This record gives sequence, structure tokens and C-alpha cells, in this order.
Amino acid sequence: MDTIFSKIISRELPADIVYEDDRCLAFRDVNPVAPMHILLIPQEPIAMLSEVSSEDHQRLLGHMMLVAPKIAAQEGFADAFRLVINNGAGAGQTVFHLHLHIIGGRALQWPPG
Ligand code: AMP
Repeated sequence: MDTIFSKIISRELPADIVYEDDRCLAFRDVNPVAPMHILLIPQEPIAMLSEVSSEDHQRLLGHMMLVAPKIAAQEGFADAFRLVINNGAGAGQTVFHLHLHIIGGRALQWPPG
């Protein structure tokens, strides 16, 4: 299914891209909740985390887990950042292309809302 994020991947929609490789793409969230708010997405259009099943997906997500701290470091927030995946509308997911929120640059409360 085509989403806003697949249009960012294909460059049909503009985005402030901060990282790209053959498996994933990262860009600034258009409505940031913190000084650093970046979305890291797979190039492959997986709708949500609960659809992930194959070993290829396992490798892809492992790769993204290694890329995320590098992006935080690149942004100057290597020491403190939070990764969030909203899975499903009830958890706040609004774009159905899997994405990892990389958030930092301010004190973050726990538990999240
Ligand atoms: P979620 O609610 O977890 O699905 O997160 C979707 C995120 O995408 C929200 O934080 C939105 O602000 C962000 N977003 C929506 N459209 C765009 C866009 N065109 N460029 C960048 N971020 C976007």
C-alpha cells in the first residue's frame, strides 16, 4: 500500500533526509516532539511491526537498530535518546509504513503518555 512514507522514499514528496542506505531511510519528523525527532523507515513497505516475520525482516530490523544510534550520534545526542515504535492505531500509529521514532534533545519522562 502506498503511504506518505513510500512517496518520501520515491522522492515524490520532499523530506529533510538525514541518512540513507540500501535498506533504510531517515528524515526529520514534520511535527517534532523534541529537538531531535527523526523517523527511520525501511525501504521495504512493511506496514507495522506485528507484520514482521521472516529472517530477512529480522536482519533488516537488526540493521535499523544499529543505524539508529549512529543517527542520534550524528545529531549530537549519542548519550541520551529514545526509540519508539507505535504499532497499530490504538497505540498511536498514523502512518502504516513501519517507522522508528528517534527522539532526544530534552528530558524525556517515563512512563510515556
Ligand atoms: P506514528 O503516529 O507513529 O504513525 O508517526 C507518524 C509520524 O509521521 C508523526 O510523528 C508525524 O508527524 C510524521 N509525519 C507525517 N507526515 C510526515 C511527512 N510528510 N514528513 C515527515 N514526517 C511526517
